[in-house]
Amino acid sequence: MAVDDLSVRLKVYEGRAAVLGGRGKDPVNSPMIRHWCEAMGDTNPAYTGPDAVAPPTMLQVWTMGGLSGHETRAPAYDELLALLDGAGYTSVVATDCEQVYLRALRPGDEIMFDSVIESVSARKTTKLGTGYFVTTRMDVRVGDELAGTHRFRILKYAPAHASGEGERRRREHAQPDEQPRSPQQPHPRERPRRPRPVVNRDNAGFWEGVARHRLLIQRCADCSTLRLPWLPGCNACGSPEWDTVEACGDGTVYSYVVMHHPPFPAFDPPYAVGLIELAEGVRFVSNVIGVPYDKVRIGMPVRLAFVRCDEESELPVFRAEGEVVEA
Ligand code: ZN
Repeated sequence: MAVDDLSVRLKVYEGRAAVLGGRGKDPVNSPMIRHWCEAMGDTNPAYTGPDAVAPPTMLQVWTMGGLSGHETRAPAYDELLALLDGAGYTSVVATDCEQVYLRALRPGDEIMFDSVIESVSARKTTKLGTGYFVTTRMDVRVGDELAGTHRFRILKYAPAHASGEGERRRREHAQPDEQPRSPQQPHPRERPRRPRPVVNRDNAGFWEGVARHRLLIQRCADCSTLRLPWLPGCNACGSPEWDTVEACGDGTVYSYVVMHHPPFPAFDPPYAVGLIELAEGVRFVSNVIGVPYDKVRIGMPVRLAFVRCDEESELPVFRAEGEVVEA
């Protein structure tokens, strides 16, 4: 399909409903406000007591459908995404969100909402790949009163690694001693690949370290506070200046989850994902390997390792150390 042709077909969706006549599953309520404030560490007194209001940033929370979703979802948004998928723009990343607050929400308020596909951009080329920005606008109301709007933008894109240049690079890097395969045998590079890490100017140094089998922790050049994952500035003092220290590789499992669902291509559940406390004191999320998923335990000593996922992708993971004891 010609690109211009696709643009025309996408533009048709501007102004069409994504959700019509949505209704909040719960009225605005104190328990959800309390959970939010605890999670955010927000102790503003306006959010507690008999005259409490909900934090304005909770606007979208009251519209969320949870696992069972909403029956009021209109088909246009799914059709638009399917059109983009079909044209090869199969990846998605949420790029930004804007909210406008017009009326305070209070416990007991019943929420109504509609969502419209506000705009579909022209085709754009980004570092992630080429694609289209899709913006939806949700109007949140209490009765006839507009309480706020929630504008949400995604980029639907064709990942850069699937481009001609990426394909050529992959061929150049193919192992010369690969055995010829029969047509029935799936080529290993046709297996689903793990998602690529998003490498940007704020974290490029981290991934350069991984390529050299070093786990680099950022250190504030002004107050020496360590931070991981990498961030553009220091949470403790705000300084943008930093250098790095290399993790010695020792850690312990601070917490973990076992992933059973949902299934993703290239992942093989169940598997354990650990929050690893490094010897340096910062924590890092990665797979725990070398131990059955149901034997991972809090406090278990682990050691940094690097696993190759495919010809382009290598990841830092943590291998259980020593004897695995039955719980
Ligand atoms: Zn600092």
